[in-house]
Amino acid sequence: MNIAVLRETEAGEARVALMPDSVQKLVALKASVSIESGAGLGAARTDDDYRNAGATVIDDRNALLGSADILVVVNRPSPEDFNRLKKSAVVLGFLRPLDEPAELAPALAHGLTTFAMELVPRITRAQAMDALSSMATVAGYKAVLLGANQIPRMFPLLMTAAGTVPPARVLILGAGVAGLQAIATARRLGAVVEAYDVRAAAGEQVRSLGATFLEVDLGGLQTEDKGGYAVELSEEALKRGRDLIAEHAKTADVIITTAQVPGRRAPVLMEEPAVDAMKRGSIIIDLAGATGGNVSVSKADEVVEREGVVIMGPTNLPGTVPVHASQLYSRNVTSFLNLLIKDGELHLDMDDNIVGPSCVTHDGKWVNERVAAAMRAVVK
Ligand code: NAD
Repeated sequence: MNIAVLRETEAGEARVALMPDSVQKLVALKASVSIESGAGLGAARTDDDYRNAGATVIDDRNALLGSADILVVVNRPSPEDFNRLKKSAVVLGFLRPLDEPAELAPALAHGLTTFAMELVPRITRAQAMDALSSMATVAGYKAVLLGANQIPRMFPLLMTAAGTVPPARVLILGAGVAGLQAIATARRLGAVVEAYDVRAAAGEQVRSLGATFLEVDLGGLQTEDKGGYAVELSEEALKRGRDLIAEHAKTADVIITTAQVPGRRAPVLMEEPAVDAMKRGSIIIDLAGATGGNVSVSKADEVVEREGVVIMGPTNLPGTVPVHASQLYSRNVTSFLNLLIKDGELHLDMDDNIVGPSCVTHDGKWVNERVAAAMRAVVK
């Protein structure tokens, strides 16, 4: 059974789906691994590193695709690449099934079996496969560095002979995986950090990292589902949050927004007046750009400036930390591949409580009900 790895072609993408240490593990499982020449260079891994790990390096992308039993990617392949695969082939990667279901129609039409890392259920057994958490960790860390690099001041409190330099003030909106990593990073750099989230459970985690948790009275509203994830809030509850945020935004030097609701558009947490009331020289980094953004004026992958306030909407910060982002992703996908390989052969057990729910298309059908519903909404 042949596992193939492509060189990623999206602009700004330097990650690779499998790193050499994962190749070694897969070869030990009696699988063969082929990789497109140059695929690891962005993540500082050469063709020789892959050869030494037991992979075959191939120049011809089309030949590589045609020989793949499992294609492992970071980003969704193009329709042309889907069509070059064998009909029995399996594709595994970030396929954006809920945000862009129609883009997977070519894979469906070609009869491919596709698994989306975004759909891996967040149950204890699947923790080692949680690529969303891995990438959110990297994004939260890098967002703070981006902010620190951009603002015209320093982060830590300094007491010098020339006087005292006050610490930077950082406000984090959404204290999930990315937000908590951003808090920890900003605290290590010496900033004073405040954070807001609708989930009460986030408060304890925020405080344990040395930040202040901003609380708002949402009138006893249910803010979490059974799995502990945030639900979409009513307009009234959102407004209460926005008012609190606007008040604290006035004194912030850096705001990092990470709020998302699985399968829905990201909540708008800052509108124009809140942005316009910020200090000159401050910055907002909106990490929810891929799902519509938390800031009404942010634009995905663009830098907007309003009266001295910079608003960035980077959608692929993990791609700017390619070595560690690839290392984490590679281990996540390798853990998933472990479920698909038995005695060196492809073995699809759709009754498995990770494999089944992560499957998007199989045998020409939409398998995941949420994706099927998202597709029906698009076709309507
Ligand atoms: P996410 O990326 O979907 O959302 C980020 C944060 O935004 C969440 O904390 C959410 O509560 C918050 N949010 C949503 N709407 C908001 C609003 N209107 N205002 C303010 N904040 C809002 O979430 P995530 O980072 O992937 O994970 C969320 C939680 O799940 C975390 O507590 C994390 O520790 C937990 N988690 C559990 C597992 C597991 O294996 N059980 C795995 C990963 C994450």
